[in-house]
Amino acid sequence: MRQVDLRSDTVTHPTPEMRQAMFEADIGDDVYGEDPSVNRLEAMAAERLGKEAAVFVASGTMGNLVSVLAHAGRGDEIILGDKAHIFRSEAGGVSALGGVAFQTIPNDERGMMDPDDVADAIKPANVHFTRTAVVAVENTHNGAGGTVLSPEDVKLIADVAHAADVPVHMDGARVFNAAVALEAPVSELVRDVDSVTFCLSKGLACPVGSVISGSEEYIAQARKWRKIVGGSMRQAGIIAAAGVVALDTMVDRMADDHANARKLANGLAEIDGITIDPESLHTNLVFFEIAHPDRSAFARKLNERGVLGGGPQKRWRYVTHYGITEEDIDYTLDVFTSTFKETVS
Ligand SMILES: *Cc1c(COP(=O)(O)O)cnc(C)c1O
Repeated sequence: MRQVDLRSDTVTHPTPEMRQAMFEADIGDDVYGEDPSVNRLEAMAAERLGKEAAVFVASGTMGNLVSVLAHAGRGDEIILGDKAHIFRSEAGGVSALGGVAFQTIPNDERGMMDPDDVADAIKPANVHFTRTAVVAVENTHNGAGGTVLSPEDVKLIADVAHAADVPVHMDGARVFNAAVALEAPVSELVRDVDSVTFCLSKGLACPVGSVISGSEEYIAQARKWRKIVGGSMRQAGIIAAAGVVALDTMVDRMADDHANARKLANGLAEIDGITIDPESLHTNLVFFEIAHPDRSAFARKLNERGVLGGGPQKRWRYVTHYGITEEDIDYTLDVFTSTFKETVS
């Protein structure tokens, strides 16, 4: 039976070329700075992002944690959107480990914050206040539906932060999806931020890893924080080698994932009982609401028929990626439509 795993782009497996590169990777002790494959990946990532330096980390969560800790200390605050992944889905790490307070601003339906709200939230130096140490944006915005912020959007936020001498971090877990959607170089999307993390392990299909990028001085700080949280790895070139291949071969093809997401969304929109806002679909995350008397049972039936994803909640997320073909979308729509008919009387 066909299996279509729409749960996340994190389920992607490495390409044959990545496996070959991993098998043959030149390696060394990265804590000594001697792993050629890690060094190559870091140099390549910095170059793509138009930044001075980069550091390889184990995950997107570690990337954001280390990035924020390199900006903010105990009793400082981070200003970010109320649907931000750093706020909602990273177990409060920056607060748990760094003593950093969260100040949230409403995210609109595109994942944007109102720059005036950000300006108002930034604290002046005063004994009563936390020190605003960093403002964070997210691109693409996961909680808002994989939506894209333009370079101009990012600049609006960065300008108010920088006017107050506050640096800006971008949680760019899927920033390459944003770049592909905008048909712009990724460096343009991160031009106005001081630090950025992106995931190799999502749409770029690597087994493990994320990268933080910024100035030389900032990345030196980030390396120290990576060490503190136990994230310095030794012969990490084995996994970094896949990242080098990903940056060379896996970025442009994400346009296929976006086209498949569009096809999936259009098909789902035809089904009575499914509510989907075509405006909200920018990249590879397809969010929709489902009116069904027993969503858990419906999801179980879909799973039995090889379509993975969904659950008891009203809002479902399907994610397209390297492991999903156009035929898989046809199959998903067939299974979805017939199972929906069968189970709603
Ligand atoms: C997935 C994701 C992360 C975290 O990445 P992990 O590698 O799963 O830790 C961070 N931010 C956003 C927006 C994400 O989608």
